[in-house]
Amino acid sequence: MRFRRLPANLALLTSMLVTGAACGSPDEPRIVVTTNILGDVVTQIVGHEAEVSVLMKPDADPHSFGISAREAHAMQSADLVVYNGLGLEEGVLRHVDAARAAGAHTIEVGTRIGPMEYQDGDAAGTPDPHFWTDPARVITAVRLLTDEIVGQVDGVDAAVVRQRADAYAKQLSELDTRLAGRFAGLPAQRRVLVTNHHVFGYFADRYDFTVIGAIIPGGTTLASPSSSDLASLVTAIRTHQVPAIFADTSQPARLAEVLAAEAGFRVSVVALYSESLSEPDGDAGTYLDLMRFNAEAIIGGLSGNGR
Ligand SMILES: [Zn+2]
Repeated sequence: MRFRRLPANLALLTSMLVTGAACGSPDEPRIVVTTNILGDVVTQIVGHEAEVSVLMKPDADPHSFGISAREAHAMQSADLVVYNGLGLEEGVLRHVDAARAAGAHTIEVGTRIGPMEYQDGDAAGTPDPHFWTDPARVITAVRLLTDEIVGQVDGVDAAVVRQRADAYAKQLSELDTRLAGRFAGLPAQRRVLVTNHHVFGYFADRYDFTVIGAIIPGGTTLASPSSSDLASLVTAIRTHQVPAIFADTSQPARLAEVLAAEAGFRVSVVALYSESLSEPDGDAGTYLDLMRFNAEAIIGGLSGNGR
């Protein structure tokens, strides 16, 4: 009985393998995107006009995620490789370079959206890659990605892509207006941010917040604070009477909890989706949902209603 079942199972397995291979059929336009936030943006633009492969998993850390040898190889034959750049994807940038050397067309979005430099901390003076915290810069990214997709990816319907991009840019613009209106309800002295690392510089610039400090004093999660860094941050939290510390859903909140306890008054620790989407059915399954979630969590935390 077992032997008679085996060929059927093998046939099923074979058909699954063939189906799997067909996902990367040479005729279908294929775009590889490193981060899941840019992956969502590109998917919103292209719809079903191209296959979009996103390398970074949900709830992951863009600074540290890695990819398989198979994924690295598949980048080399993509029609377009989209990456954040400005040093963000430290585990993947060498594979982007290899794909470019192999002839793939690549686009580093971060260099083309009007990048800012870190203002303070260990990374002061170097480019800040976290531009997606400003929806206006994401609209700029949509415009340039649309031109790249239409120009570089054979087989997409340019009219469809441009129409989708316009509709998405309109949604982003509405988000931006809505957030500005929501934050206008916060008094100026409450618009203060203490975060896991320096992730909200563009957001602060866009919506008139002040970054008081970060637990990890640099621009990446791949560093550790010294005890004197933490002591001076506690002082800054006291000076500015900071009501909430914003942790990241993909990072342990232990240091944030310690700092909050050290402050000497009630400080909430509020988790944000600062640099990764959640699973699709989570609170931040898309970039628009991520920004809406973060905005309400920031308002809640700074109003003294944090969780
Ligand atoms: Zn970061």
